[in-house]
Amino acid sequence: MDSKTQSLLEDASRRSLHYLKTIGERRVFPSPEGLANLAKWDAPLPANPTDPSDVLALLDEVGSPATVATAGPRYFGFVTGGALPVTVAANWLACAWDQCAGLEALSPAASAIEAVALKWLVELFGLPPGTAGGFVTGATTANFTALAAARHSVLAQAGWDVEAKGLFGAPPITVIVGEEVHVSALKALGMLGLGRERVIQVKADAQGRMRPDALPRIAGPTIVCIQAGNVNSGAFDPATEICRAAHAAGAWVHVDAAFGLWAAAAPARAHLLRGVADADSWATDAHKWLNVPYDSGIAFVRNPEHLRAAMSVNAAYLVRGEKREPNQFTPEMSRRARGVEIWAALRSLGRSGVADLVERMCQYATRFAEGLRAAGYEILNEVNLNQVLVSFGSEDKTRHTIDALQREGICWCGGTVWHGRAAMRIGVSSWATTPADVEQSLDAILRAAGAS
Ligand SMILES: *Cc1c(COP(=O)(O)O)cnc(C)c1O
Repeated sequence: MDSKTQSLLEDASRRSLHYLKTIGERRVFPSPEGLANLAKWDAPLPANPTDPSDVLALLDEVGSPATVATAGPRYFGFVTGGALPVTVAANWLACAWDQCAGLEALSPAASAIEAVALKWLVELFGLPPGTAGGFVTGATTANFTALAAARHSVLAQAGWDVEAKGLFGAPPITVIVGEEVHVSALKALGMLGLGRERVIQVKADAQGRMRPDALPRIAGPTIVCIQAGNVNSGAFDPATEICRAAHAAGAWVHVDAAFGLWAAAAPARAHLLRGVADADSWATDAHKWLNVPYDSGIAFVRNPEHLRAAMSVNAAYLVRGEKREPNQFTPEMSRRARGVEIWAALRSLGRSGVADLVERMCQYATRFAEGLRAAGYEILNEVNLNQVLVSFGSEDKTRHTIDALQREGICWCGGTVWHGRAAMRIGVSSWATTPADVEQSLDAILRAAGAS
């Protein structure tokens, strides 16, 4: 390596450290000036080369102040998680390795680490031993991947080869979802030719849980999509009853568990997932509650043959050995080695560390709810997980409170509508949050509400 390259990479490390050291003191959402500066990137396409060190400086000087501090301790907007230091370090090294994780022949290391990460995750979540997995971008693609396996299986049972023949002339598939289905599951269904709108929606209860007594009678090729961890309330669909009814009729049950699946790792929360392991496939995000960098979703399928049938390809130049070929389990062929950070997080935290990470976030959510309730504000959900929905009174007052809070920049919470009512949504999901951050943020929220 030449000395210029070395100093470039050292500079990147120095700038990254500075960013992370100061993240707790800066605004959670960028200032208007920070956002306006983004225009500095938009120069005409350079005709000639620029020194890489100048490129990095421009990236840092314009980009860093315009980032949303999701890696910091007081971001409670979407359930994003902040990357654990060990995963940032692993990510840097993996980036230097620059491995293509699709093929064993291209990266035995990426392939091996994914196999270990997969085995550990299956064990951590209490999924059936032997469950297959694909390391994909996020829960949307994990839903897509798992539902492709579901589509394969229910049509194969009906004597139809969907990978070969497509859906033209195929027996129709009934798709059943809950009223509170996440939009990403509907998008995945649309991409699979199953339609975003031709689904049967099952009524949900006050917390957003699918009501098993409202399930329609199931017959013929059928996929039932349930949810573990509602984006608003954090609620879990009753998986035991739904799996029992669906399986009795030969249907496939898929669980969108983008962040909820991680609750299985915390002994005090694991009861929320009762019956979830009875399903046939699951989608989750490691970039959410395991706190690894983007992008990191995982699709799990109980029977590896169903996932392989939906995702595998064959070509003479794609050597196939005895080992697990990662590209046989994902929509992607070429992709980064996503198992690296997952392995590093699990290797570093261990079972007790993951349990603590999840449990701590849940307790912080409880503290937010208590503090807001004590101040006279209404909590709209049962707070069993990391999500809090709060109303500050009228719709206007709730909206003004959210605006004032976001403007101040101490912490960031978003808005939502829950059963027709405007609410602020607080989702706690980062290792970096401390009890002091929770108190500081609670004060900021109460101040914003008081002024609105
Ligand atoms: C976040 C989330 C998704 C989408 O995940 P991406 O990683 O953004 O694709 C899907 N379902 C649920 C329940 C979620 O919380």
